[in-house]
Amino acid sequence: MRTAMRTQVGIVGAGPAGLVLAHLLQRRGIESVVLENRSRDYVEKRVRAGVLEYGTVQLLTETGVGDRLRREGLVHTGVELRFDGQGHRIPFDELTGGRSITVYGQQEVVKDLIRARLEAGAPLLFGVADVSLHGVDSPTPSIRFRADGQDQELQCDVIAGCDGFHGVSRDSVPAGVLTGYERAYPFAWLGILAKAPPSSEELIYTYHERGFALHSMRSPQVTRLYLQCDPDDELAAWPDERIWDELHARLATRDGFTLTEGPVLEKGITGMRSVVLEPMQYGRLFLAGDAAHIVPATGAKGLNLAVADVWVLARGLAEFYRTGSAAELDRYSATCLRRIWRGQHFSWWMTSMLHRFRGDDEFGHRLQLSQLAYVTSSRAAATTLAENYVGLPLG
Ligand SMILES: Cc1cc2nc3c(=O)[nH]c(=O)nc-3n(C[C@H](O)[C@H](O)[C@H](O)COP(=O)(O)OP(=O)(O)OC[C@H]3O[C@@H](n4cnc5c(N)ncnc54)[C@H](O)[C@@H]3O)c2cc1C
Repeated sequence: MRTAMRTQVGIVGAGPAGLVLAHLLQRRGIESVVLENRSRDYVEKRVRAGVLEYGTVQLLTETGVGDRLRREGLVHTGVELRFDGQGHRIPFDELTGGRSITVYGQQEVVKDLIRARLEAGAPLLFGVADVSLHGVDSPTPSIRFRADGQDQELQCDVIAGCDGFHGVSRDSVPAGVLTGYERAYPFAWLGILAKAPPSSEELIYTYHERGFALHSMRSPQVTRLYLQCDPDDELAAWPDERIWDELHARLATRDGFTLTEGPVLEKGITGMRSVVLEPMQYGRLFLAGDAAHIVPATGAKGLNLAVADVWVLARGLAEFYRTGSAAELDRYSATCLRRIWRGQHFSWWMTSMLHRFRGDDEFGHRLQLSQLAYVTSSRAAATTLAENYVGLPLG
């Protein structure tokens, strides 16, 4: 026996995409239920992205979940590109009419959204199992799952597949409907979180003959650092001393940059891939965020694209429930894909400019240096980087 429930929008996944969607729908008076297979504690501690575009910050603030973000987020008006032992600042505010980015951990965004939803008494179920989607090509789709030892069925008008790249929503689309476009990169990122004050006020993207390095931060006490590594590397091959040695070597400048070390709180290796699945809709199922696309982290676009997708979806659903018209919903995929491909291009471009490619010769190295010199000396080229990095307007 299954217990049956009903809602307007069934949302699979309580990552940024699912939680922002639920929040936007609630503000428009549209009911939803969010189903998450992990525990609340797990999703609130999952360390991932940390750079919020200008439009993402505005959206969260204007919809009432930005108080802590405004208080604790670190507003950055520029970023440093470092190569050939020298740093060069790209001033976002000057180049984009006053725009900036905010450094605020993805897990903090997730915590704020979960708290807001639970305080509002809206349904968000953690630790559900065996999630499966049914009838997605009919007007009455449903989600089956197991919670509290009980088989349940959630009947809905629409399902939002916000369950990330390894979720189940995508598999409910019949074979042959989705086309995948993909690029794999021959390197990965080794990321650490260190209990050490940041060594610079801004992010530093470094191109070095030994490979890419990124200096970032999560708070005035915690630094986030990344190193380009081999995709087959095991964490065991990277004891803390080796990581710090490599970071010192790659981030070094001719004028004596000092990197502050501290205890490593977390360590992980993430592969680099670009993937887009088209279309992002099948019947009454809408895919959003990582469920439909992945970007290499160099452009800091993953979380921001997820938020932009569900902003478009919430607008379409609002029109659907207000007027009965699915016209806006039917444009969901095409509207999102324009921004996604821009984000893909930017992320691929930043990745190509800043990493060493296996087998790269001196010719390739000199081309990369030339590109970096151009981006940091031409106002037009720097503006291209700045406006993409702070994020194009939502729309
Ligand atoms: C390891 C890692 C590191 C990253 N680091 C960076 C970074 O440094 N910088 C950056 O810009 N971006 C980074 N990203 C990308 C960024 O974090 C993602 O783009 C962002 O999380 C996308 O949000 P989402 O809500 O679409 O997906 P997710 O955040 O993946 O959320 C999906 C949710 O669905 C849940 N779920 C999965 N399967 C099911 C199921 N069957 N039933 C119910 N729930 C399910 C998951 O537990 C999860 O909570 C990283 C991504 C990963 C995976």
